[in-house]
Amino acid sequence: MDLKKLAAALIPDDDLISPEKYEEIYPARLLEKGAEVTRLAPSPTGFIHLGNLYSALADERAAHTTGGVFYLRIEDTDLKRKVDGAVESVIRSLKYFGIKFDEGAEISSKLNYYGPYYQRQRAKIYRTFAKKLIEEGKAYPCFCTEEELAAIRAAQSEKKLTTGYYGAFAKCRNLTEEQIYENLAAGKPYVIRLRSSGDISRRFTFRDEIKGEISVTENDQDIVLLKSDGIPTYHFAHAIDDHFMRTTLVIRGEEWLSSLPVHIELFSALGFRMPRYAHTCSLMKSDGGNKRKLSKRKDPELSLDYYRRAGYYPVAVVKYLMTLLNSGFEEWELKNPLADWRDFKFKVSKMGKSGALFDLDKLSDISRTEISMLSPGECYAFLKGWTEEFGTEKDRQHFASEAYIVKILELVMGADGKKRRKDIERAEQGVRLIDYFFDDSFSPVYSFRYGADTVKGVLGRFAEIYDPADDNSAWFAKVKEVAAAEGFAAETSEYRKDPSAYIGSVADAAEILRIAVTGSANSPDLCTIMSILGKERSIARLKSAMGAV
Ligand code: GLU
Repeated sequence: MDLKKLAAALIPDDDLISPEKYEEIYPARLLEKGAEVTRLAPSPTGFIHLGNLYSALADERAAHTTGGVFYLRIEDTDLKRKVDGAVESVIRSLKYFGIKFDEGAEISSKLNYYGPYYQRQRAKIYRTFAKKLIEEGKAYPCFCTEEELAAIRAAQSEKKLTTGYYGAFAKCRNLTEEQIYENLAAGKPYVIRLRSSGDISRRFTFRDEIKGEISVTENDQDIVLLKSDGIPTYHFAHAIDDHFMRTTLVIRGEEWLSSLPVHIELFSALGFRMPRYAHTCSLMKSDGGNKRKLSKRKDPELSLDYYRRAGYYPVAVVKYLMTLLNSGFEEWELKNPLADWRDFKFKVSKMGKSGALFDLDKLSDISRTEISMLSPGECYAFLKGWTEEFGTEKDRQHFASEAYIVKILELVMGADGKKRRKDIERAEQGVRLIDYFFDDSFSPVYSFRYGADTVKGVLGRFAEIYDPADDNSAWFAKVKEVAAAEGFAAETSEYRKDPSAYIGSVADAAEILRIAVTGSANSPDLCTIMSILGKERSIARLKSAMGAV
């Protein structure tokens, strides 16, 4: 068969350049030995998830700890899944978590020599190499219809054979020249398939950067390279793009491990040197005692937006993922609590080999710790940023009063230099936590443990004598005075000695004040809360609680 003629008939484009030319257009990168070139290659579906961040973090670390390059390629061959603005949203989301690309789609960089970075814009290069493979007899046209393919699958399933287009099942593999040209003349649609030379009875060893030595079976599937609309499959585009973008290390989810034999055969058919591969384990969650993969349908926490919306501290999310990526990270952090997490010596080879258990409680703990290490001013800026994007109009009005909120945060967090409280877990919860400092958000449901007379007695007496100029001990002396007048023990020790002599201790009396002022039986130091609120508002709260019982 005249393969050159066949290739020209199947791919008649007259604007293609020679395959060799591409080696010149996209030369080897001038990087130090050992520098890794990595990439994130999402589909523009608009859904960016924790797995993407997990992978991106590994990519970014692998590139930036070795003086390499981390770039963004958009795998937009499936137009059905494309969502407007998705690429910007990937970039924005990752940036929020401190991950930046050096090169790639929508990245303004002088390094952008290896584009275009959208696969849709790379049709010419894929067609060039499909043509080359046809000329070399390594690819052929397949005219099978959906129905024919379904019939092949059904026959294979019935005989319990591997399904797919291979060996004797690959009907179009051995079409004669006449049959091919007849089909073409009849205008039948066709795909271009790889003519696999593999044999599934042969196995070989492959070294994955994470999984180590794995045993792989050769591919024997005549997989599709170009679909009938001329668009490449993931496999074909992957081999061409990662070769010409000069990727050194492909970090991708372990769901691709089963396609590895196909990729190995493709790289070899194309005459390209393979990059190294690191197949990352899936993120799992514990669900009723069982471990299962995080699922888009069931788990809102898979979406990265979830973390921004809830206001987890971004560095906390990254640090938590680092603990999943490299088990040594946590220990390193304990030894270097003040160091920048980027100083940790990340190693792809130390990444977990099997399912990483994602634990939201652990992330919350890290987020609390990170937030507790901010100064009240920094915390104000963080919470304010959240209110701007996700808060209500009322939140934004509250956060316009910087001095007032910083004062509140000094109390809630503990001022600089003092032991820090960890009450703020994430921005949304932190903003709600201080709502009671604003009258227009204060709508308490009082839950007093004493009768109306006692409550009114405590609140009324305290309102009479409260003076915001009192320091903590003068303030507390007044609480004791009021408590004693209402039948509470002024000292806890007295109460303990003879509980039946009192209706409660001074702590119980203070709780009545606390509920009246904050709406809750738990709060930071009440004396300070009242001084932040000021005399008028504090007394108004005592009075309105009296009116409510
Ligand atoms: N577009 C593929 C995905 O989103 C990329 C896989 C890869 O990194 O090679 O799963």
